[in-house]
Amino acid sequence: MKRIIIAIDGPAASGKSTSAKLLARKLGYVYLDTGAMYRACALAAQQQQININDIQALSRLMENIRIHIQFSDHGNTIWLNDDDVSEAIREPDISRLASAISAHRVVRTKMVKLQRELGREGGVILDGRDIGTVVFPQAELKFFMIAPLKIRAQRRYLELKEKGLNPVFEDILQDLVNRDKADASRALAPLIPAEDAIEIDTGELTIAEQVEKLYRIYLEKVGS
Ligand code: C5P
Repeated sequence: MKRIIIAIDGPAASGKSTSAKLLARKLGYVYLDTGAMYRACALAAQQQQININDIQALSRLMENIRIHIQFSDHGNTIWLNDDDVSEAIREPDISRLASAISAHRVVRTKMVKLQRELGREGGVILDGRDIGTVVFPQAELKFFMIAPLKIRAQRRYLELKEKGLNPVFEDILQDLVNRDKADASRALAPLIPAEDAIEIDTGELTIAEQVEKLYRIYLEKVGS
């Protein structure tokens, strides 16, 4: 059967990565977490103490950065230069910096190129903000996931708690508001649904229901 490109876009904590990962497993596809790539750029800038608004310094960083994504059934392992940074990039300050750094053209150009190389063979599900609009506008199947803000904040809160952290619900909520606003209002590749994207509201759905819904739509479009 034809192995297509599936784009899943949407705001933070709307259920994209969990359902993308599980759907990829079900279809025998590769899952690519594009947000992790921007997070790795942010971590590199933080480690090297680069002011991300200094475009020359940012350009040098992007010339030398090596990001490698290792695929497995459990998701992606993210390598920055020679370090596994899969955990380090999940810190809240890196979420904020990722959103800020991803507004820069020099960063997006490099990441989009890498994403296109990784996805070009098909049989891939990419999640992000601009997959259906910019990275793969020709993707055969596009989803745009949404969920009410409070539910998204609650999901992030529980995720961090499960990791043994001590999150503050109000801080998470405010971070999501700020990040969504920045991602949706930026000039380059803003967070908007592609015209041909299918909107999925995950607010009332369990993870199993989300995956089932995507899978059914996939079968309708592509066949079994
Ligand atoms: O998906 P995640 O929340 O890990 O993404 C972190 C940040 O990376 C987002 O807030 C967004 O600013 C940026 N991003 C992007 N384009 C993508 C994926 C993520 O600009 N395709």
